[in-house]
Formats: sequence, structure tokens, C-alpha cells
Amino acid sequence: MYPIDFDNLINIFQKLPGVGAKTAQRYAFAVLDLNEEDRAAYIAAIEGISRIRRCEVCGFLTADDKCEVCKDSSRDRSIIVVVAYPQEVAAIEKAGNYHGLYHVLGGLISSNKGVFPDDLMIEQLLNRIDESTREVILATSSTMDGEMTALYLDKVLKNKDVLVTRLAHGLPMGASLDYADELTLIKALNNRRRIEE
Ligand SMILES: [Zn+2]
Repeated sequence: MYPIDFDNLINIFQKLPGVGAKTAQRYAFAVLDLNEEDRAAYIAAIEGISRIRRCEVCGFLTADDKCEVCKDSSRDRSIIVVVAYPQEVAAIEKAGNYHGLYHVLGGLISSNKGVFPDDLMIEQLLNRIDESTREVILATSSTMDGEMTALYLDKVLKNKDVLVTRLAHGLPMGASLDYADELTLIKALNNRRRIEE
């Protein structure tokens, strides 16, 4: 019915989570109706995604070998906050109270979903801990999988000469935090504690 290029656009929108045929068609028309400048920016942004990959050190997103945080020599290299997803790094950065490093696991250990330690960037975490590392803060969510993952990490970090702490409360999930969430997050970071045996 539509020209093939337009059908292709509808089809790729439909690959996004929660987007059905009708919404995909609406999005395709919306792109078609963008002014020339916005449409060029849209195409450039989509093309730019092909340059995005995981930081070889911490697993956060980057267009280079290393991400902006890992490259920043003014960051405190003695502390590493461990999270499951890149969105959580963005959330903590937005709260603006933390100046150490990160490690993004790429998910959580989950017996339900069949995710095992080997599926996550745990080996890389163990390998990057050296004499300059003083503390590892486990900031995985307070869900069952988040707690399981924190317990597992606490166990494997036992052989390392670092202080292992856990957030006072679970990390607010998702990329967008409101002001109240940011305060909770800062409080959770400040009130971190050792994991009880
Ligand atoms: Zn990095």
C-alpha cells in the first residue's frame, strides 16, 4: 500500500517495546511530517547509535573505547558504584553528589530469567579492582534479583582487599528521577552500610 521505504520505517518502529502496528504508523507519519532540519537531526541521531558501545572498563555507554567517567582524571578512583543498567549511572550522575567510578553489570543474577554470574560483567569487575580501590558500593535494586546479585558480589569480593558496602535503600529504577528521588538516592548513598553476615 505505502511506498516500500515508508513501510520499512513502520516496521522498524514496530520492533520497539510497546509499539503496535497503529502506533508505528503514527510515528512514521510524524517523522514524515518533521521539517527538514528536524528530520536531518533525527536521521543523524539514529545513525549515531551505531557508534555507541559498552565502555571496555566499566560497561557504561560510550562512542570511544572508554566512557566519559572512566576518562575523567578528576574522579575519585578509590570508589566504584556497581549497578545493573546504564540508566542507573545516569540517575546517580543526575543526583550529582557522587564523584567516584561505576561498574555496569549489564543485568542482575536471576534464577527466574536464567541469568547467571557468567552472563554479567562480574569477571571484569574483579579484574579492575586494584590497590587504588578502597570501596565497592553495591547499588543494585532492592528487588529479589538485586539482593541476590548484591549477596553474590559480596561473596566473591571477600578475597579482595576492599570495603564492600550496600545502599541503605534500593536504587530508584529508571532513567528519569524527580527531585524527591534524587534526595532519596543521595541519602541512600550517604547511608550505605556493610552487608550483614
Ligand atoms: Zn567507563
